[in-house]
Amino acid sequence: MEQKPLRIVLTGAPGCGKGTQARILSARANICHLSTGEMLRAEAAKDTPFGRSLKDSLERGEFATDEMIVDMVSRRIDEPDCRNGFILDGFPRTLPQAESLETILKQKKLQLDCVIEIQVPDEIIMDRILGRYSCAKCGEGYHDKNIKPKVYGVCDKCGGTEFIKRADDNRQTVKNRLVNYRQLTYPTISYFEKLGLLHCVDGTGSIENTANKIAEILGLNEEK
Ligand code: AMP
Repeated sequence: MEQKPLRIVLTGAPGCGKGTQARILSARANICHLSTGEMLRAEAAKDTPFGRSLKDSLERGEFATDEMIVDMVSRRIDEPDCRNGFILDGFPRTLPQAESLETILKQKKLQLDCVIEIQVPDEIIMDRILGRYSCAKCGEGYHDKNIKPKVYGVCDKCGGTEFIKRADDNRQTVKNRLVNYRQLTYPTISYFEKLGLLHCVDGTGSIENTANKIAEILGLNEEK
């Protein structure tokens, strides 16, 4: 039986757990995880003039332009793996991006089902971001204090032994990213609230706990 498409925006401050929750939800609901941050980091890793300038601005925590991001997301949504739906992680990050999302979905005759804001206070965010790192091979996420691999230096998931930290996960850049979040992204929350799409989730508990709350909002817990 064909599943009903599910189109979701996961939003919240940097470090609230959007990426982690999007990966879990993507597996649980069998829908595509679209992270604009990951798309931009892939572009920034290319040794081209554009890649190099993008790398610099990401390292400073600056936003990419609305036009470029909207175009990138619009094209990505058209790909066949998004037919069952998608989770937008890190998009929209500004009011113009939110308005453009509404427009492009209307043009494509698609509907946004739900926006979930993961709420975490700033003190916890700084601690989470400064301690996080991931496996260089499979991308599995870890944290210095909270989520250590079972065997020291070995990835639980793929056995990889190389780990990396994001270049923008440093104290000064996180401060910039939080300022940007408050000034530019926060207005999108009330925008979605007015559209009747917003649900808020407390993201201070365990990963599993937050994932269950999200699944409950989406009615996924009742399914087999
Ligand atoms: P993330 O992985 O979601 O934390 O994104 C990493 C960085 O990519 C952000 O700090 C921004 O510099 C940039 N970025 C990601 N998504 C967007 C977006 N929708 N609009 C503008 N910049 C973005």
